[in-house]
Amino acid sequence: MKIAVCVKIIKGDINPFDASALECALRLSDDVTVISMCPPSSKDALLALTRLGAKVILLSDAIYAGSDTLATSHILSSALSKIDYDLIICGRQTVDGDTAQVGPCLSAMLGIPVITNVMEMPVISDKVKCKTRMGEEEASLPCLITVERIAELRFPSIRSKVGEVSIWDNSVVGADKEKCGLSGSPTRVLKVFESEDKMRRCRFIEKEELIPLIKKLSEEKAEKEEIKEAEIKMPKIYAVGKEVLPVAKKLSDNVVEIGKKDAKEIAEYLKAENAEVVLWNADLWGRRTAPIVSAMLRTGLCADCTNLETDGEKLYMYRPAMSGDVYAKIECRTLPQMATVRCETKSADIVVSFGKGAKNSLDEVKILAESLGAEMAASRGLVDTGKAPYEHQVGLTGKKVSPKVYVALGISGAAHHTVGYEGAKYVIAVNNDKDARIFDYADFGVVCDIEEIVGLF
Ligand SMILES: Cc1cc2nc3c(=O)[nH]c(=O)nc-3n(C[C@H](O)[C@H](O)[C@H](O)COP(=O)(O)OP(=O)(O)OC[C@H]3O[C@@H](n4cnc5c(N)ncnc54)[C@H](O)[C@@H]3O)c2cc1C
Repeated sequence: MKIAVCVKIIKGDINPFDASALECALRLSDDVTVISMCPPSSKDALLALTRLGAKVILLSDAIYAGSDTLATSHILSSALSKIDYDLIICGRQTVDGDTAQVGPCLSAMLGIPVITNVMEMPVISDKVKCKTRMGEEEASLPCLITVERIAELRFPSIRSKVGEVSIWDNSVVGADKEKCGLSGSPTRVLKVFESEDKMRRCRFIEKEELIPLIKKLSEEKAEKEEIKEAEIKMPKIYAVGKEVLPVAKKLSDNVVEIGKKDAKEIAEYLKAENAEVVLWNADLWGRRTAPIVSAMLRTGLCADCTNLETDGEKLYMYRPAMSGDVYAKIECRTLPQMATVRCETKSADIVVSFGKGAKNSLDEVKILAESLGAEMAASRGLVDTGKAPYEHQVGLTGKKVSPKVYVALGISGAAHHTVGYEGAKYVIAVNNDKDARIFDYADFGVVCDIEEIVGLF
């Protein structure tokens, strides 16, 4: 079976999700081609991948600079149409752009089915069967799948030889120049600014106060977050999914709701309606379907927006970037202007998250957390030891949770982790190191050994 893997090199390293995609491909086949669109300076990182036995193609041309996800997908799809493949594997998303759009966009451009957020090694027969974050799914070959961080990229043997990286410029790739680079990109970043400080003011408490506090905070009545009404409104907005209706209604008095239908059906409807603005709920379904529709309509899409503004005509979309370190204000120059928007999601009232520091008392603390009705979660530190499943991982390369109370047990508080629980109302951290970073990102803290809290539940 021929497998193509799309890989992005970020600051000299392979994007972690793409590393997982490559490892999956290498386990499934001996015929793996890596395709990467990046500047020539990334060649060394790509050369290392040839030692794993993969053929590597670097797509590099000055006209590709500044490409957004739609332009990138166009370039990658042009290159992929020059090679034979049965299966294309992409990482779920890049950790710098965080859009998760290229996989679904590519599938639409190549006219093949897509399965996103694959959580286990796929099973291949005449079909591809996958366990995804949304359940069991299958598609016939050829198809494209995007994988979560489900496999660690192996180290090449010291005896393995370095191969060659083929460099393809646009005379080989044959992408439409009008659809490449900055000028071919419908979305444009207007400004980038530092994100507000996500630090919390930690109040240290005694360990005996821990359980009553968790119970008290989890029973607090949820206040409804008021979305600010726009002063100037847009004439009409199409909202896909009822979750996004409150946001749409603040921006327009004329909102048309669209149900969660097939991407092609939605694209045809929006085209017939000459829709100018379309908002989607940024849930897993929306983040898979909206990019497919954006490719079908050849329009820009801004992913995972946390705020929207308008001057009555243009939609200004705000979203976190670079793992939440900065915010970007983005506009779309084509119609319809589309955005997936973070909407209120249902989360358990209490999430208890275990880190490497909880590994020795894991079984005891788990049973006790269950008695609180809590959902279980984990840091990558613990997941990497094999003591928690990847489904539980919270953070940049895991999932995001927004419970009323997030309890972090034995977690150091790396930025990669804290970004995953920013939506939590209260955070309580337990750690035996009083200087642990997690306390700067918690509302309450207990300085003690995890073993000491076992008897408290
Ligand atoms: C590209 C990239 C993406 C990443 N994505 C994620 C992600 O999605 N999610 C994620 O979590 N991480 C992610 N990481 C890893 C992250 O940087 C940290 O390495 C990881 O979160 C550390 O896990 P930890 O806090 O459980 O372990 P450690 O850093 O080992 O911390 C353990 C903590 O437990 C405390 N402790 C030890 N023993 C005890 C005890 N007996 N009682 C109480 N406290 C104790 C220690 O003081 C320490 O603070 C990513 C890293 C990279 C490079």
